[in-house]
Amino acid sequence: MHRSGHRSTLLRLLDQAAGAAGDLLALAVPVDCVCCGAEDRALCIPCGRNVRRLTRQPFRAEQGAPALVDVGGRVLLPVVAAGVYREELAQALLSFKRHGQHQLADSLGRALAVAVRAATDGTGPACLVPVPTSNAAFLKRGFSPVHLLLRNVSRHMPILSVENVLEKSGTGLLQLPGGQKGLDRGGRASRVRGSMRVRRRLHSRVAGRRCVIVDDVLTTGATLAEAARALHLAGAVVTGAVVLAATRPPDSAGSGAASPQARGDEHDLEKNKPGKDE
Ligand SMILES: [Zn+2]
Repeated sequence: MHRSGHRSTLLRLLDQAAGAAGDLLALAVPVDCVCCGAEDRALCIPCGRNVRRLTRQPFRAEQGAPALVDVGGRVLLPVVAAGVYREELAQALLSFKRHGQHQLADSLGRALAVAVRAATDGTGPACLVPVPTSNAAFLKRGFSPVHLLLRNVSRHMPILSVENVLEKSGTGLLQLPGGQKGLDRGGRASRVRGSMRVRRRLHSRVAGRRCVIVDDVLTTGATLAEAARALHLAGAVVTGAVVLAATRPPDSAGSGAASPQARGDEHDLEKNKPGKDE
């Protein structure tokens, strides 16, 4: 067996060991399902099944994001969402963003991989560029949820490279109290604009390459628009974006009035307090 064979065997063993350690830990410390509270694992089997059901059909989500379509309705950046931000998907994602349970990373990473596949099918090779976590959020949590999810995506799709080239350039513009909620479309966009850049010396990693931006939740689209702007400046060809969950379901897209179904989702949303880098 040659060297790389040894290396991949070693990685696989390490991976198995990590999984086994997690299972042992679950045996030693009772863990509650983050969705239903059943004393089982971080995600019990029925809730895990629901996460899969909620992410079975990735959909185009940019029409629900005001920053990603112009006033004439022209799409500025196509986005594929793995599912709608609701029910078990919202609960699992929220808990994962707070605590980073490896079992949730596995489930959610698989869902994200399905969406990445839908977004990159037939487009040729592309690199995945994660939206950076703010320093404040990273310090608070000790990890970056999107990067952790992407590690799981790479396991399912090793042919796509992950280029971690974006960084926040401002002073945490998204971290103001109250977040972006009370701002109108223009206010949100201008607050985020200029807050990201491609790291110095890493421009060559993306210049001339097809890039797909990856984030966890899509709300207004201002964050993705800013990431696309920064990548364009570095010479990247941004073909689209992928998110794990979009706050608006595809059927309410584009229409000003929310359907009763969509209003129900807004309630869930209030309850679960989603948020960009809370
Ligand atoms: Zn459960």
